[in-house]
Parts: sequence; structure tokens; C-alpha cells
Amino acid sequence: MTVSLPLVFDAPRRGMPPRHLADLDAEGRRAAIEELGLPKFRADQIARQYYGRLQADPAQMTDLPAPVREKIGEALFPPLMSVVKHVACDAGETRKTLWRAGDGTLLESVLMRYPDRATLCISSQAGCGMACPFCATGQGGLNRNLSTAEIVDQVRAAAAAMRDGEVAGGPGRLSNIVFMGMGEPLANYKRVVAAVRRITSPPPDGFGISQRNVVVSTVGLAPAIRKLADEDLSVTLAVSLHTPDDELRDTLVPVNNRWPVAEVLDAARYYADKSGRRVSIEYALIRDINDQGWRADMLGQKLHKALGSRVHVNVIPLNPTPGSKWDASPKPVEAEFVRRVNAQGVPCTVRDTRGQEIAAACGQLAAEG
Ligand code: SF4
Repeated sequence: MTVSLPLVFDAPRRGMPPRHLADLDAEGRRAAIEELGLPKFRADQIARQYYGRLQADPAQMTDLPAPVREKIGEALFPPLMSVVKHVACDAGETRKTLWRAGDGTLLESVLMRYPDRATLCISSQAGCGMACPFCATGQGGLNRNLSTAEIVDQVRAAAAAMRDGEVAGGPGRLSNIVFMGMGEPLANYKRVVAAVRRITSPPPDGFGISQRNVVVSTVGLAPAIRKLADEDLSVTLAVSLHTPDDELRDTLVPVNNRWPVAEVLDAARYYADKSGRRVSIEYALIRDINDQGWRADMLGQKLHKALGSRVHVNVIPLNPTPGSKWDASPKPVEAEFVRRVNAQGVPCTVRDTRGQEIAAACGQLAAEG
């Protein structure tokens, strides 16, 4: 591929940011406040500012005395990241943000407004170590994991942007979160699960977004899927399968060499059993690679056998990365693929692809840096 490799991936591996309020659960937050010699009630007061009022600047927390603002600013609100640029498309209803973390690491999130919801696609890692050959992020490797606070603050910023009417359509509410930006969420397991808890707990412990409106995606780290199932969350699991056969999947999604399709689907069934949620199967349809009719039949059969009615297939027309040999399938091929999966009794639809004109395949904006 001819994409010039981004600065972010050339950078040396750097460390996590200092501790931030959003890294802490309720207990940790109270302990931190006590360490500062402040009364315990300040802990929830500050958390209400952050999660309830979406305020990340202690100087603006005017219900706190000035010396307290200064103290907590230093101890719990280190600068996390700043906006490098916003890029809008789809008549302003899609906005992609490129962030620079304190150590120079670049990451990105995409806010998409629909008639009935506003969805934020967030990054869980800077770069990605999974090396899928068709993906811009995968070309550069993993830079580092994001901290819980770096994940959570993408959500806070988007919720504030929606509230303040920064996205076309006037003020609104951020309702859905998908972990489908840069990175493999389950490879940053502990921080991602902590972030899910902050995103979904009601204030003062989190933003109060319904677990049912949160999607955690994975390329199929089977043991981590099982572990996630045991967390007793009701978030939707999305498995990026991309093909039902091991032979092709070994190259399309190299981690398949470790956990082949059957193991991934077993783990997905365990997740469906424990969570009571339908599993989402993501399938990037790539011209002449994985779009054959027989693969659609095989996909439908395998999914029906493993998951019965607790599955839904999202076909994603590939968003080609500049200069790449990978391309989206022609529309008639796509329609036939969808028809054949449905014919096996497995619901299958084509996902609306937002943001094509701003290079919204994961990693492309950071790649242009
Ligand atoms: S497709 Fe997802 S898992 Fe694969 S390299 Fe890209 S970001 Fe990583």
C-alpha cells in the first residue's frame, strides 16, 4: 500500500498519561480526594461536574472554592488531549475529530447524527496490533493503549458537542457509543471495561448511557470474549468476522491463526447466552476476496448453527484506503451476498457508511496526520 506512514506510528512508544478523575471508580475517587485532605463529599461533587455537566476544566467548576479547584486540577485533571482538527461531512451531521494526547500520540473519534440517535465511534488504542491487511490503522502497528480516561473523555467531549449544538441539527443528546475506532478493544481489556462502566453508570459515577446502546467490537479474541461475558454487562458484542472460513481468515484477520472461526463463534455463543443479547457479526465486503455466493451460504449456515436467532450480520462496504488494492464489492454482488445470508435464516443488512468523504475508515485521518 502507498499510504505514507503517519507520524503517530513513527513515534517512539510512550507511556500513559498521569491519573485522571475518569480513570477512577467511585471508591478510587473518594480515596484520591481524601489523599488531598478534602472532605469526601467533594468526590461526588467533582464527578457530577465531569459526568453530569460534562465539565473537564476545574477552573469552571464554580460550585467549588477556588483553592479546591486548584488542588483537584493539579491532582485529578492533567491535560489529556487536545483537538488537532475537526472534519465534517454528510451535511455537517458527521464530525470526525483528530486528537493529540499529552505525549503527542494521535487518536480519533467520529460523531454521527441520525434522525433517531447520535452515535460516537471511539478509539481504544492508538494504532492497532492486529495487522488486518485491508485496514489503514492496521498498517502502522500499535503505538500504545489508551488510558481509561482517554477513552472516556472522547465521550465527554462528544456529549458536550451534542448538547451545545456543535453538530448540524441543533442541540441534542449523545445516545450510542461504538468501540469501533482505532484499536482492538479487547486487547486493552481492563481499561475498556472500566470505560464501559463509566460510560453507562448513572451520574455521579458515569454518563448514564444505556448499556444496550453500547457496542464493543473485537476481531475475535476468544478468551477475552468469554471474560467479557462474565462481567454481566448487557452491551452488544460485535465480532469482525469478515469471512466464515479459516483459510481466508488467516490472512484477512491474522489473529485467526490463534483463535480460528469455530472458537470465535463458540465464544460468541457464550456471550449471547450470558448477556441475552444478539451478537453482531461485522463483514467488510471486499471485491473478489470474500464476496462470493458460496461464502455467503457458508456464513449463514455457520452462524445459524452457532447462534440460532441471536445474531445479526452487518455487511460493511469496504471503505478503500488510498492506494490500496482492496476495493468495495459492486452493488449487485453485495445485494446477492445479503440475500443469500438471509436465505439461511440469518438477518443480514448493509450498514450505512458515514463519513466516506472524510476518510472515515478507522485510522485514515490519523494516517494523514
Ligand atoms: S480492522 Fe480493526 S482490528 Fe484489524 S487492524 Fe484495523 S483497527 Fe485493528
